[in-house]
Amino acid sequence: MAGYTPMMQQYLSVKEEAKDALLFFRLGDFYEMFFDDAITASRELEITLTGRGAGQEERIPMCGVPYHAAEGYIARLVDKGYKVAICEQVEDPKAAKGVVRREIVRIVTPGTVMETKSLAGGANNFIVGAAEQGGRFGLAACDLTTGEMYVTSFAASAESVKNELNVYRPAEAVGDERALAILAEASRSSGRALVATVRSQTGEPDERLAAQFPEERWDRHEAVRKLAVARLAEYLGETQKRSLAHLRAVKSYDPQQFMALDAFTRRNLELTETVRDRARKGSLLWLLDRTRTAMGARQLKRWIDQPLLDKTAADERLDAVEALHGNWMLREDLRAALSEIYDLERLVGRIAYGTANARDLNALGASLSRIPALKDICAELGSGPLSAMAQSLDACEDLALAIADAIAAEPPVSVREGGLIRPGFHERLDELREASKNGKTWIAELERQEREATGIKSLKIGFNKVFGYYLEVTRANLGTLPEGRYERKQTLANAERYVTPELKEKEALILEAEERMVDLEYELFAALRDEIALHIPRLQRLAERVASLDVLQSLAEVSAERRYVRPTWSDGYDLNVTGGRHPVVEAVTEGSAFISNDAALTRAGGPILLITGPNMAGKSTYMRQVAMICIMAQIGCFVPAARAELPMVDRIFTRIGAADDLVGGQSTFMVEMKDIQIMTEQATERSLVIIDELGRGTSTDEGMAIAQAVIEYVHDRIGCKALVSTHYHELAHLEETLVGLRNGCMAVKESADGVTFLRKLVAGAADSSYGIYCAQLAGLPDSIVQRAYGLLEAAGAAPNPTEAGQAISAASPASSQSYASTPSPTPDAPQPAAVRELAPGRLPDGVQQLSM
Ligand code: ADP
Repeated sequence: MAGYTPMMQQYLSVKEEAKDALLFFRLGDFYEMFFDDAITASRELEITLTGRGAGQEERIPMCGVPYHAAEGYIARLVDKGYKVAICEQVEDPKAAKGVVRREIVRIVTPGTVMETKSLAGGANNFIVGAAEQGGRFGLAACDLTTGEMYVTSFAASAESVKNELNVYRPAEAVGDERALAILAEASRSSGRALVATVRSQTGEPDERLAAQFPEERWDRHEAVRKLAVARLAEYLGETQKRSLAHLRAVKSYDPQQFMALDAFTRRNLELTETVRDRARKGSLLWLLDRTRTAMGARQLKRWIDQPLLDKTAADERLDAVEALHGNWMLREDLRAALSEIYDLERLVGRIAYGTANARDLNALGASLSRIPALKDICAELGSGPLSAMAQSLDACEDLALAIADAIAAEPPVSVREGGLIRPGFHERLDELREASKNGKTWIAELERQEREATGIKSLKIGFNKVFGYYLEVTRANLGTLPEGRYERKQTLANAERYVTPELKEKEALILEAEERMVDLEYELFAALRDEIALHIPRLQRLAERVASLDVLQSLAEVSAERRYVRPTWSDGYDLNVTGGRHPVVEAVTEGSAFISNDAALTRAGGPILLITGPNMAGKSTYMRQVAMICIMAQIGCFVPAARAELPMVDRIFTRIGAADDLVGGQSTFMVEMKDIQIMTEQATERSLVIIDELGRGTSTDEGMAIAQAVIEYVHDRIGCKALVSTHYHELAHLEETLVGLRNGCMAVKESADGVTFLRKLVAGAADSSYGIYCAQLAGLPDSIVQRAYGLLEAAGAAPNPTEAGQAISAASPASSQSYASTPSPTPDAPQPAAVRELAPGRLPDGVQQLSM
């Protein structure tokens, strides 16, 4: 450090404390960065890199951003995965001897962003703490903006970490090296960057926990959970450098409390985002989200991520949804009341942080004033969970009243410029305001008097920060001003400015009153904010209940609009759905009607359905819809069906569509086999297994052999409900040997116009794949299509749709249930030799409707 200026030495010692962060070093009105930080920041933020003399021969790299614009720059850096340490001047430069004292006041990291501007309202921003001990993995997840803290533990494998991580999608992780290595493996293929920091506990975890969560019974928690929370709390303390008063409650759970959904299944069923572009639009969350508050939106995502396994808990939600479902007028009232409630959780976070301004308090007050209306509506909806809810809502009237009394109706954003406090709230403040007002009236009066006395109409009294109040006379009028009437203060190009002893005296009074006013207002405001901070647990409980109420009305709203029905629970095993629909496909299938289908997976009738049939017939939509119906029911939502009797499903396992682990460098086939391996290990009798196109990706013989072996294993050893689709029609014979397996297929109508998919599940096996027909529809050259039919016939394989082995002319089928958007093949393709004609909606000969 020798040779550096004292300021630079200070910089270097501060930088020591935040080696892994970019240091924003406050110098006057700027945050400056030096050395490598400057190079990185100038590149990432596209700002000019300059240099600065620092006491040594060479100038050092430097760049800076104005303090008032810093938030945006910090957000951009954090968004790119950097940590930013903010170093402020912590003493008054006027009072400082030598270099002003500076300290890091906070380190902003991707998982600890508090600035809600850079966060979406309906989404959480989680940071996780991780620990590994004796083969167990502890995972703690915290959203600092809302004050939520969750903790759980499970067997330490990348697979289970991956499944749990999917609920939180953290931006950042802290933990010991082993735990972080597992986390890294688990998030490898997620496509999300995870900023990780190694923290191997230094202090006593118990002390750290007792200090942060005084009310929690830590002796009841598994050691690895305590470690995870302690590490996270320690890191939060280090980076935030302030009390985290809103972080007092820990929600502890076992993954087994909820339906197990592996990462692939979540993704594939498009529960919270679509597979293709990871968008919210098109997901189940998108469909079900009619929440009116940001808290509700976050809570809904949580419910979808964690379907319940407890019938009583699910019924409680369903009872509430039913009550709201049946009364649209009250539901409307409820929705209107909810939409006036701000994000209580994040307001509370800012109050705890000391960053809430007067507008935030007013937002809190306004939100609290809506609670009585919510209570009334819930009470009107009758008995059951909603009336219990009504009783448990604490409107925090005392806080609402305190805010309404103290805070001005339209306060400014800044809390340091006055205007925060209502008149009549504080006597001394009113006196100061009066004094300031009187002073100003006196000045206005003086202006009037002096105009009269001097006869100069343009004489005016002005104010600026350097000279205070002054009298101003334009040059043209100077002649008429009596000599020595005022004291000259400043000469401008076309005016002179003066003062008088009286004016200065009043000025001193006014300025003093104003300064004291601003200070006093801030003090009163901060005192109220601190007072409210003492009630954070009450506010958090309220926020959580409001969030639940919002989710319940959201589910009821969608259920009513889309004609969903309340599911009932079966004895425990059987699944019986009449007229089931896929909620999202139905919602986005504009114009043409979605075709409903039944599902009966029962012990007596056979829990395994083997579906054969052509591509595009609707097999995977059907299989997904059965899974979706189970999930929706276990969230507490009505389901898209005419009638649904469901078991509590402990796990849904899906293997649908391509899931190439390109990042991991594994082949599709290998990934499929691994998934199947996991299924064989984890599925229980109460699980639902869905496998699409089992056994593709290898040779036909091998694929078919594997498929049969897997089906037999599911049938004989697991005994769970399963939907399996395959393009190996040969597997249909399994129906004869496996008592629990039945064949089904998607009905198809063949006619002179081509093949029309009826999208109706019928009993029996399909006799054709129509693969070549699909190729033709996709617009493949006619010669290829003809050649393919020729080869197929020569091989003596399954008959093609034309029976005579010729291509069908498929001039865009008129039916809306057919390929509506695929290009038509060449119109001059040869006519089919034979077609099976079928009335629209009727089923082909030899097939019967399945499971009525
Ligand atoms: P498969 O898995 O048999 O290839 P999909 O399930 O992918 O077929 O369905 C193909 C298309 O048909 C889907 O994109 C969907 O829009 C439509 N579809 C599927 N099932 C239905 C249905 N029951 N009613 C209306 N359209 C459907």
